[in-house]
Amino acid sequence: MEGTKQTHQFKTEVQQLMKIIINSLYSHREIFLRELISNASDALDKLRFKAQTDSHILGTDTELKIRITRDKKKNTLEVADNGIGMTYDEVVENIGTIAKSGTAGFLEAVGAAKNTGAVTPELIGQFGVGFYSAFIVAEKITLTTRAAGSDKGCRWESAGDGSYTIEEFTKENRGTTITLQLKKVEEGDQDFTDEWTIRGIVKRHSDFVAYPIVMDVEKTEPVIGADGKPDKDKTQKVIREETLNSMKAIWTKDKNEVTEEEHNEFYQHISHDWNPPLAHLHLKLEGTTEYNALLYLPSKAPFDLFSHEQKHGIQLYSKRVFIMENCKELMPQYLAFVKGVVDAPDLNLNVSREILQQDALVRNIKKNLVKKILELIAGLEQEKYETFYKEFAHIFKAGVSQDFENRDKIAALLRYKTTKSDGKWVSLKDYVDRMNPDQKDIYYITGESLTSLMNSPHLEVLKEKDIEVLLMTDPIDEWVIRDLHEFEKKTFRSAEKGDLDLEKTDDKKKEGYNALFEFIKSGLGEKVKDVKLSTHLKNSAACLSGDAYDMSAYMEKILKAGGQEVPPSKRVLELNMEHPLLAKIKAVFEKNKEAEILTDYTTFLYDLAVISEGGKIDDPAKFNKMIGKLTSGAVDQ
Ligand code: ADP
Repeated sequence: MEGTKQTHQFKTEVQQLMKIIINSLYSHREIFLRELISNASDALDKLRFKAQTDSHILGTDTELKIRITRDKKKNTLEVADNGIGMTYDEVVENIGTIAKSGTAGFLEAVGAAKNTGAVTPELIGQFGVGFYSAFIVAEKITLTTRAAGSDKGCRWESAGDGSYTIEEFTKENRGTTITLQLKKVEEGDQDFTDEWTIRGIVKRHSDFVAYPIVMDVEKTEPVIGADGKPDKDKTQKVIREETLNSMKAIWTKDKNEVTEEEHNEFYQHISHDWNPPLAHLHLKLEGTTEYNALLYLPSKAPFDLFSHEQKHGIQLYSKRVFIMENCKELMPQYLAFVKGVVDAPDLNLNVSREILQQDALVRNIKKNLVKKILELIAGLEQEKYETFYKEFAHIFKAGVSQDFENRDKIAALLRYKTTKSDGKWVSLKDYVDRMNPDQKDIYYITGESLTSLMNSPHLEVLKEKDIEVLLMTDPIDEWVIRDLHEFEKKTFRSAEKGDLDLEKTDDKKKEGYNALFEFIKSGLGEKVKDVKLSTHLKNSAACLSGDAYDMSAYMEKILKAGGQEVPPSKRVLELNMEHPLLAKIKAVFEKNKEAEILTDYTTFLYDLAVISEGGKIDDPAKFNKMIGKLTSGAVDQ
């Protein structure tokens, strides 16, 4: 129903988001201008990119720029661009709903932070507030826009009170104009209709934007006399258009010329993340593969790290002309969190994504960049490294499977907590260096939490032998180990699967248990694959384990949680013949193989094993009764 004015309600999430933004960013409100300029600059980038394949799209309006207009009397501020613009449907889609992935995660994080009063600008900045931040300073926003190549425009308006109106609108030129009816200026507040206020904000936050940001300013100039020369004694006030930003592409500057502040601002501009980056890489390569790159490692993972449509990755330029955003062809997926700019002068501007994938130059640049980024990560000082690892390890580790060429380098960057590390991260190299002299393999165990792993009965023998075990709690570790297989020629060995072969077994004693184990096995039927003497247990009576090539219990849980069909895998019930309970059961068994209580013991041993790995047992009431019986000394019936 275009043509008439329509009123729509904002989506609930938008309303929630706007409230959060307005309430928590008031003291940082000048950032609204950066956000609007950033959107305008993106819109110009998109237009310029389109113009490379469609030369008519620019028409006569070829000077791409962003214009800021102040009106003190009306108390309005306007940001206009002649970029790609939006169609009616795009406005409905982009402004008013939240197309952004990660919104739910963000609102959740804010909800959690609210209780502790920690809704900080950084938290919000991570999400990228964009357009809505204008409501911090405006009581009403009017957006008019016309998409490039379309003759119909559209007008959107809202007072940020839960609803907006939208209607068709005749707009003369292409692009988007955003008009803010500013809130009344309180004493001591910044006045956004003031020339110097705006100059300052643009310089601070948007100096390197690649398009001129222009504004009319009042100047006092000498009057030109009849002779055509300035008359020194007479001055007049004139309005002149001035460009407020230097537009200097900072990646073309000399490394030492770029200050930390400039890096921070530039990083914010390209990433929409307010937290300063953890580290940067500034490269200028000449020779056969010529390019400039300015890349950043963020200090916080964005809410949409796992989204397939991550927006702000690597921007590709050629001779300072923007080609595309989020150029996945330059960064492998496991480094998708790296942000920045790559400027390759030899690239054809008309290059398409399909061509990029096969382009030898691009492949070379990618190879170089990966090498340099891995070096950058390896060189981080400990505290920064831990921040990096905390935020990005779960995505970075996938490199072990994805990047065969750099597998060893990535493996060297892995860190784990261990049974001996006292909560500290340990590298595989450290682990190997301090292995016991007669230890052949690297032991690891996977599971949901450090505490449950530390207390796992599977580690009893290993602990007694003073063997360090890597504790892996990240689901991806299962894949990491599978693909890595070994480190410095030492094989990874699961502490919970297969036999440990660490102790000599008393074969004679073992034989004595054969009949009982057979009995228990047949009693459990389909529940277990086998009943065996344990090589893991020292203090506990029973545990469940897999065969060496079985899926681990944790892996099975992960896959099931992910909705995958997992064939039911039977486990092995391991029993500890050194445990007094076993000796007593054996005595009962030998006295009377038909004794009824033996069935109860069979279930009890199995239940003990299930509970020790945090599983749920079938009949807790019965288990309870057994415990009562056992602890009251009624073991022998
Ligand atoms: P973000 O910029 O992080 O995507 P915003 O809320 O600022 O979030 O903007 C939402 C979307 O609206 C943008 O992704 C873009 O598609 C569109 N948009 C905003 N401003 C403009 C503009 N000046 N010109 C064209 N499209 C715009």
